[in-house]
Formats: sequence, C-alpha cells, structure tokens
Amino acid sequence: LPPDRRVGFAIVGLGHLAVQQILPGFGSSRKAKPVALVSGRADKARVIASQYGIKPEAVYDYESFDRIAQNPDVKVVYIVLPNAMHKEFVIRAAKAGKHVLCEKPMATSSSDCREMIDACDKAGVKLMIAYRCQYEPHHRYLMDSVRKKDFGEMRLVRAVNGQDVGAIDQWRLRKALSGGGSLPDVGIYCLNAARYITGEEPVEVFAQISTPPNDPRFKEVEESVSFQLRFPSGVLAELSCSYGVHRAQTLEVHTAEAHYLMEHAFPYKGQRLQISHKIGKSDADVVPNIEQQDQFALEMDHFATCVMENRVPRTPGEEGLQDQMLVEAIYQSARTGQAVKL
Ligand code: NDP
Repeated sequence: LPPDRRVGFAIVGLGHLAVQQILPGFGSSRKAKPVALVSGRADKARVIASQYGIKPEAVYDYESFDRIAQNPDVKVVYIVLPNAMHKEFVIRAAKAGKHVLCEKPMATSSSDCREMIDACDKAGVKLMIAYRCQYEPHHRYLMDSVRKKDFGEMRLVRAVNGQDVGAIDQWRLRKALSGGGSLPDVGIYCLNAARYITGEEPVEVFAQISTPPNDPRFKEVEESVSFQLRFPSGVLAELSCSYGVHRAQTLEVHTAEAHYLMEHAFPYKGQRLQISHKIGKSDADVVPNIEQQDQFALEMDHFATCVMENRVPRTPGEEGLQDQMLVEAIYQSARTGQAVKL
C-alpha cells in the first residue's frame, strides 16, 4: 500500500525489541507504518523519530501518552514494555480509542488479561497479542501439514526454548516487572506452539522447576522449567525452557509416519524445517522450500489488515489469556508436585 493508505502504528517503549526488530520490521511491511513513539527518554525518542520520519509532535512520554487520543494518524498502539506494564498501557490505549497490539506474555496474571480484554471490548477496539511465530511461514507449514495428517496421526510434540538470560541488572529477573522467569518469557513459545500445532487445548499439565540456589540472578524468578501437557486427542507435549543454557530452540512433532524437526524454531530468523517420513519400506528426508520473511512485518501486516477489514486477529487477547492460565497451572503443578487437571 502507498504510505497514505497504510495503518499508522505508535510504538510504546523503545527498548531492544522495539529498536532492533520492530521499527526495522516496518521496512518489510506492506500495510503498516510507524507514526508515533512513546518513551521515557525524550533524547532517544527524538533521534529515533527523526530516523523514521516521525513528526516531533508525535513523540509522547508515559505521562502525556493519553494525548495520543487526539492524534488521528495513530490507528494502532503497539505495547513493547516490560510485562507487568502491558495491562496499564493496553487499557489506556483502549480508552484513547486505539486498536492495541501487545507483546507477549500478555500480562502477569490471568485477572489482568481479563481486564485488558474487557477494556478493549468496552472501547470497541481490537486487541492482538504479538505471537510472531504464528505468522511465520515455517510454523504455518508445520501446523498445516500435521493438522492435515500428511503423515498420519500426531502423537508427540517436543519443544525447547532457552538462552543465557545475561546480567543480573534487568527487569526480566525482577518478578514485579516480569511476572516470572524463563516460563513466561521464553517457555511461552513452546506452550503456544503446542497449542497451535495441535489446534487443541490441554486437559492436564505437570511441571518441574529447577533453579540454581547460589546464582544471585535467580532470587526472584525461576531458571529452568520442564512441563508436560496432555491434549484431548491423546497427543502429549514435552516442553522445556531455561535462562541458563546456550541457544536451545528446537521444535519437533512426531506422527505415526514422520518426524518433523524445526531447528532455530523460535529466534527472529533462521528457521529450518526437515521432515523425515516413511515411504514404502524406507525413509525420505525432505526440506521443504519455505521463504524466510520478517516475522514482525508479517504480524503487523496481519493486524493492519484486521483493522482495515474489521476482522478478528488470529491471536486475539483470548489467546494470551489462555497461555497465562496455563502458565499459572504450570507454576501450581511445580509448587505442589501434582499434575493439574484443567
Ligand atoms: P527492554 O528492557 O529492552 O525494553 C523495555 C523498554 O520499556 C525500555 O527500553 C523502556 O523504554 C521501557 N520501560 C518503561 N519502564 C520501564 C522499566 N521500569 N524498566 C525497564 N524498561 C522500562 O525489553 P525488551 O524490548 O526485550 O522487551 C519488551 C517486551 O517485549 C516484553 O514484554 C518482552 O516479553 C517482549 N519481547 C518479545 C519478543 C518477541 O520476539 N516477540 C522478544 C523480546 C521481547 P524507554 O526507554 O523508551 O522508556
């Protein structure tokens, strides 16, 4: 679309993700454009605004944010703040009459998620959670292939997502801002993937947590989580996440006649899907030719389309609420040592 017909986005919170991925992602977008910034650091925001051709008067701070209601260029507000701040700014954006795209995890409690959904409903605005992998072509290929039963019934899903969280001085390690450790931050990709691959909702979860007692980084939040989900069809998912490993990022699906292996499944790029499947009495290894695309551009274009065509996004607030309820069940299971029925 030409610039004057694109949907205008305001980016709230100019941290790593916003500056290094989302703003550059507009370059690959077809339907979205950045038109406003919201930041606590006026100097930084001014520089970034000039880089992206954003008007100086469309730069807000957290106090003046509500004035965005009077900016008709802004149709969507994209919340890229620490997790515990999502709720306040989603609700304020809705009250300003703007559609809202909110980063994952949606919030830090299921009651907050419900308040956010209600606020957007009441204001008559759309709410989408930024589950970028659900818009990524390798994930969509995998989802379609297993759901069509290209190689028989699905039995097992396995996924691991993790990284070294890094230095101690960051909001991710402060429970009041993050809501938890590796589970809501990176484990949520595995959890969400198990749900969109199966197209089902789990009926039982079991989880274990391990956190090194002497690492001062993990005084408030957990390091590693291993969790299992049982789905109504009988599919089992074995999922794990950690803040103390070197690049764990694999997604696998085992069906009656195939093994789907996606390497680099959860990073911003580099996905590779291999399918080893039965063919007669032997096996074939196939690497489908799937185009790499900017995940942030795809996700923003999806929401822009929903706004222009008045459609419900593929990953609405309810999708974030469901993951948050499962995160809470996973913590409960780890705490009690018991499986939790849902
Ligand atoms: P950063 O810490 O890099 O950035 C967060 C920004 O929020 C800060 O730069 C700051 O922006 C603003 N902010 C306002 N108040 C605070 C505060 N009290 N403490 C810290 N920052 C504050 O975080 P990320 O960019 O890595 O993460 C932001 C969100 O995006 C999180 O919800 C995270 O889960 C999600 N995320 C999603 C990813 C994905 O792939 N979808 C990947 C990475 C993160 P300013 O200086 O402009 O005020």
